[in-house]
Amino acid sequence: MPGHRIYLDHNATAPLAPGVREVVCAALDMQGNPSSVHREGRNARAMVEAARQQVAALAGVPASRIVFTSGATEAAALALTPQISLKGAKGFDILIVAGGEHPCVREGHRFAAENVVTVPLTAGGIVDLAALEKALDGLDGRRAVLALQAANNETGVIQPVRTAAEMVRAHGGIVVCDAVQAAHRIDENAVTLGADILFLSAHKMGGAKGVGAVALGNPALEIDSPLLRGGGQERSLRAGTENVAGIAGFGAAAVHALQVRASEATRQGALRDTFEAGLRELDPEITIFGKATPRLPNTTAFALPGMAAETLLIALDLEGIALSSGSACSSGKVRPSQVLESMGVPPELSRCALRASLGLDTTAHDIEQALETIGRVARRITDRRMKPAA
Ligand code: PLP
Repeated sequence: MPGHRIYLDHNATAPLAPGVREVVCAALDMQGNPSSVHREGRNARAMVEAARQQVAALAGVPASRIVFTSGATEAAALALTPQISLKGAKGFDILIVAGGEHPCVREGHRFAAENVVTVPLTAGGIVDLAALEKALDGLDGRRAVLALQAANNETGVIQPVRTAAEMVRAHGGIVVCDAVQAAHRIDENAVTLGADILFLSAHKMGGAKGVGAVALGNPALEIDSPLLRGGGQERSLRAGTENVAGIAGFGAAAVHALQVRASEATRQGALRDTFEAGLRELDPEITIFGKATPRLPNTTAFALPGMAAETLLIALDLEGIALSSGSACSSGKVRPSQVLESMGVPPELSRCALRASLGLDTTAHDIEQALETIGRVARRITDRRMKPAA
């Protein structure tokens, strides 16, 4: 199919899920401000509240405990503050961050730098639980917040959130879980993960870009320090007229995710396995990061040794295949992935790391084509390298 592009970068952002466009457009056509008392306002409010129910069902919290934000980055900044009350006791002292966290967690939190402890990942890509226990033992009576994602955006590795949460809670701490890549792909939510706070992003699950949510899982917990103050929207935790269209679309995407999550996990998992088997046929020396660890069904992070990721990425883009090197947020910067670094991957291998992330629109034909093109492009790059200079 001339001009047909194969998009394998769903962890960066996903196309709109079925039904979302219609809901977003209908909301854009609504006049009212959700805070107004007249009918137009009430209609807009109803749309926001319906979406709140829908997102809450995915997050596993009551609707009254959802706070809409401009995305996961803002959600992380809102949730990761020392100013949290738990059962009336105010304030947390230390932030423990797992080595694989997204930059919005690593850099976007509101703790003083001297109060942040980083815990590395194991070679398999999960948080090192022995190192976590050591960090908890060193707290010396101080109260800790653990930031641990449900699944990693680069490798797809699923984190042992429940186990880590039990460890942290035994030391009087709480867990804030970035469920951005996981919520729509695996059967987990705030309850099953045992997370006190969860956060989500709409555009990773087929909603519009620029909307996300904090889900307060623990009923005894309150965030005391909003980022935006003003009109009192979102229980005074996030002032500003709501992004009604974005929120409504987020609700529709959450409903769709719950409907297809199990079947898509099976379908995409099979495609991902075919992709990985094909890559290994192309080059038996290939490294697939986190291969031996439970991973999201849609993600493959791999390195063809000696094949610089940026070179392959650009060549594949010209051939109609969209992959990514590391996370989208850090592409453009030629810096080895911090996630792989935390897993102990040497920089020379990390520089070869590419990510393919599948989604609702990925077909078996796409995978076949992608493998054929990767093989052809990799051979071309190798041949060019072998050719003596004229
Ligand atoms: N957390 C993870 C795991 C992500 O993959 C991303 C997006 O790249 C984010 C957070 C940030 O999400 P948003 O684009 O909504 O700010």
